Amino acid sequence: MTEQKRSWAEPYKIKMVELLKMTSKEDRQKAIAEAGYNTFLLKSEDVYIDLLTDSGTSAMSDRQWAALMMGDEAYAGSANFYNLEKVVREYYTYKELIPTHQGRGAEHIMSRLLIKEGDYVPGNMYFTTTRLHQELAGGKFVDVIVDEAHDAGSEYPWKGNVCMKKMQKLVDEVGADKIPYISLEGCVNMAGGQPFSMANLRELKAFCDKYKIMIMLDATRCCENSYFIQQNEKGYENKSVKEILHEMCAMTDGCTISAKKDSLVNIGGFFACNDPDLAAKARNMCVMYEGLHTYGGLAGRDMEAMAIGIQESAMDSHQKARIGQVHYLGEKLLKAGIPLVTPFGGHAIFLDAKKFLPHLNQEEFPAQALAAALYVESGVRAMERGNISAGRDPETKKNRNPKLELVRLTIPRRVYTQAHMDVVAESVIALYEKRSQIKGLEFVYEPEHLRFFQATFKPKA
Ligand SMILES: *Cc1c(COP(=O)(O)O)cnc(C)c1O
Repeated sequence: MTEQKRSWAEPYKIKMVELLKMTSKEDRQKAIAEAGYNTFLLKSEDVYIDLLTDSGTSAMSDRQWAALMMGDEAYAGSANFYNLEKVVREYYTYKELIPTHQGRGAEHIMSRLLIKEGDYVPGNMYFTTTRLHQELAGGKFVDVIVDEAHDAGSEYPWKGNVCMKKMQKLVDEVGADKIPYISLEGCVNMAGGQPFSMANLRELKAFCDKYKIMIMLDATRCCENSYFIQQNEKGYENKSVKEILHEMCAMTDGCTISAKKDSLVNIGGFFACNDPDLAAKARNMCVMYEGLHTYGGLAGRDMEAMAIGIQESAMDSHQKARIGQVHYLGEKLLKAGIPLVTPFGGHAIFLDAKKFLPHLNQEEFPAQALAAALYVESGVRAMERGNISAGRDPETKKNRNPKLELVRLTIPRRVYTQAHMDVVAESVIALYEKRSQIKGLEFVYEPEHLRFFQATFKPKA
């Protein structure tokens, strides 16, 4: 058997385990009611298999745990910062590194520095915190992702691509001087973890060079995106994930990153760029909102673990197993006829709640209701990515009612086994058989910003 044909078996063995708690259905009914039918408000100890998010939930390697002992906790100029800076230059190409406590800290700094009141910020679909910081800085987000991304059933392999016609239309309508940058996300989370192609980025770069618009990467899942390029884009089959990541970043002006995802750490993030003037301004903002620019809200040990996590995240064997496991779950559900977003993305399998619960209208929050019901059925915690996550339009104040109404089964990296994936699949299939019993929800409490995190609900009568 050749290397290629072998299964995606984990390229590691397990050295330490954390015991899981099983609960009864009665316990879970009580827990979800107390949590206001919002899986974000459940206590982790009441959860059996936790697929809420892949954020900060990765298992660190023995090398990363050892790195925690190498923390240089000097207030200024920690050795760990310089190690991290070296690794970021090597893997992500950018010369200037400003660490932040997590992704949104970097988004805050970048948005405030680059966006002026009345600007437009195109993006390949929105991300919740990214768009909020753009709006708080006075910008207006404009979705320029290809139409296929909004169609759960489309088989297009590059649903993360930017639609160049939509970019041209925006430039024609508002003028390039009102567009400081395009926010380009790898493995677009809200679209189902969908990658963009290198060909699309090349085309985007030519366009942006012509109009002097910067490309700022949301590099949170760009290692996973690089793996898709290696697997599916012509000309990249013999390049490593690391080489592809390098080529990708080199075509952009900078990035924000949540290191809690691809980079295999429990906390951390950064802003990086090549322009020394922009970096100087970012360092100055960092000291106001995050901490001194050589730690940005992180302990020295966190930066050291991140430096190692970045190297491990770009290993081909890691990505093969990572995405192999996600797709293993997807194939099982697909075979059972469960409505899903296809093709499968990098970090999660997304249930199509509109098709799963056709008896509910979108104002009854089908994805929110489905995530709650899955928890009660099985102790598996998923999350909503639909009308609640999309929030209200700042002008009309109406629910945005996005085309995609999804429940995300997010797989933490290196945490669960194939048998856990089997149990998750069995749970979803069992729930599908009694889907007509699932009721819609209405708000009890609706917070102003990022409402999906803290909102509470009750079942509709
Ligand atoms: C998680 C995430 C962020 C925000 O990062 P945090 O570390 O959660 O603050 C930004 N962009 C994308 C694509 C993400 O998935």
